[in-house]
Amino acid sequence: MNKQRIALITGANQGIGFQIAKELVARGLTVLVGSRNLEKGEAAAKSIGGTARAIQLDVTDQNSIAAATKLIDKEYGHLDILVNNAAISNTRATPDMKLADYFKISMASNASLDEMRAVWETNVFGVMAVTQALLPLLRKAPFANIVNVSSGMGSLTVNCDPSTEYRKMFGPIYPASKTALNAITVAFANELEESTIKVNAVTPGFTKTALNNFEGIETLEQGAAEAVRVALLGADGPTGKFTATQGELPW
Ligand code: NAP
Repeated sequence: MNKQRIALITGANQGIGFQIAKELVARGLTVLVGSRNLEKGEAAAKSIGGTARAIQLDVTDQNSIAAATKLIDKEYGHLDILVNNAAISNTRATPDMKLADYFKISMASNASLDEMRAVWETNVFGVMAVTQALLPLLRKAPFANIVNVSSGMGSLTVNCDPSTEYRKMFGPIYPASKTALNAITVAFANELEESTIKVNAVTPGFTKTALNNFEGIETLEQGAAEAVRVALLGADGPTGKFTATQGELPW
């Protein structure tokens, strides 16, 4: 069994996940670059180089999750770090649509239930399915870290604060999917409290990626920083926390 530290990043063929994978490789870990499209994952792993290795993983496909789990078990026998990074923000925004215009068609009063189901399928049920499947391998590591890549947009406390600038954008599709992800983070953290597995959520901040049609303002390095920090926390690290590079956030 390979006792080297193994990390799996979902949705690592581009964006923040790609950057997280790159930085964990630079720190000497074996990194499995999760990608629903294997060719894109292979291209990403090749561009990262070193110990990066592509793995086909569609978080909405139980067969894909089972195959990836089997491969990790066979090749490494355990998993030290799981970064649940894969997500989608919508299914309806057109390339020329500004975020502000998309928000107008995705509020509680007019959101498409089909779109909400599709986004939650990836961002919420996908994380549940991947985490449940990989828990036995995480339990086999000396200690393990699960990092859920959430968003400040999911914080109920922040969105209930009248002084919050963007609280009018809090809608049921993407923002609330991150609220649900936060809830799941707490559920896993509480259940695994006595185990060697830490479960935390992080927010990258508003990062320039395909997810927001490149309207974000932070770089990939800035966006990946907190996930990388939390992924590398030691056995005595915290669990059940929601953090950004600036510090702890309220759920
Ligand atoms: P991105 O560039 O669009 O990357 C998202 C990744 O998720 C892509 O690799 C995508 O694969 C993958 N993905 C989507 N559906 C998937 C599925 N069913 N199975 C497996 N992979 C799937 O966006 P990003 O900004 O880097 O997002 C990374 C994380 O940061 C997300 O959790 C996002 O919610 C969070 N976040 C981002 C921001 C921001 O400002 N960018 C802010 C807060 C939180 P494809 O290439 O195949 O589409």
